[in-house]
Amino acid sequence: MRCWKCSKRAIIYRRYEGRAWCKDCFSRQFEKNVKKTIRNSNLVEGGDRISVAVSGGKDSAVTLFILNSLVKKRPDVDLFAIGVDEGIPGYREKSLKVAKKFCKKLDVPLYIFSFKKIFKKTLTEIISGKNENFKAKACTYCGVLRRWIINKKSRELGANKVATGHNMDDELQSIFLDYLKGDLNKLMRLGAKPAIIKHPKFITRIKPLRNSPEREIAIYAMINNLDFYLGKCPYAGKGSTRFDVRYFINDMENKYPGMKYTALKMFDNILPSLRKDFASNAVLKECSSCGEITSQDKCKACKLLENC
Ligand code: SF4
Ligand code: ZN
Repeated sequence: MRCWKCSKRAIIYRRYEGRAWCKDCFSRQFEKNVKKTIRNSNLVEGGDRISVAVSGGKDSAVTLFILNSLVKKRPDVDLFAIGVDEGIPGYREKSLKVAKKFCKKLDVPLYIFSFKKIFKKTLTEIISGKNENFKAKACTYCGVLRRWIINKKSRELGANKVATGHNMDDELQSIFLDYLKGDLNKLMRLGAKPAIIKHPKFITRIKPLRNSPEREIAIYAMINNLDFYLGKCPYAGKGSTRFDVRYFINDMENKYPGMKYTALKMFDNILPSLRKDFASNAVLKECSSCGEITSQDKCKACKLLENC
């Protein structure tokens, strides 16, 4: 197969587009697509100090790589990386080792915070000794506590934005999940830059890869020789609805190429109206226990930790 643009040997065929791409043309087009998302949603603005959440995986590696290449040309924007060690033996220490190596190569400062130091327990300690039902919730504990750390520590390090490696597949799964669970509030907070939570303690989240398919991110990371860890978290997918939704979406894309793009575009068309018509009146306050933001008396992280 030959590249549709330059006729060199192709390395990827996009079924949804009906075109094959060589290494160089694909890489350029991929970057162009990410930069378009950054530009269209104003993800990077003058005066920004961006905290890039890194895990050692391909998505955060590509996010850091592309943002760093942009920031190098923008003296009015600053960037650092932040990693969280949840304490998942045999997995996280390896992935963070790769993240450290990559940040060093890019000359980007990296700050790592651990569950053990901050919450006095690792994720594994939190779920050990509990029943199978509780263990299936590892991702809930992990996600809530990690977001708590990333928001608080990024703010303390002076960031006004947190960039995450969420890709098109993650975003679509969230859209379907929020529909299935009837969670309108969460649905409205999707998008490349949700920016609907306004509070001095909340750091705006940005998702530069939100319009890039997971498969293409992996190919981009490989052909550009980025350092990323391929291992899988031992708690991934166990009993999760997200896992089933992911399977369904990929199955549909296989049968009907282009469905992922259509579904995302459709959601983007209705998102502004959703936000306008269903804006939440919930007042954000500070958690009575830790001082972080919440709409209740206590934040989710504090409530989860009470049961550990
Ligand atoms: Fe945490 Fe779940 Fe991801 Fe593992 S798969 S790192 S437990 S969110
Ligand atoms: Zn709290």
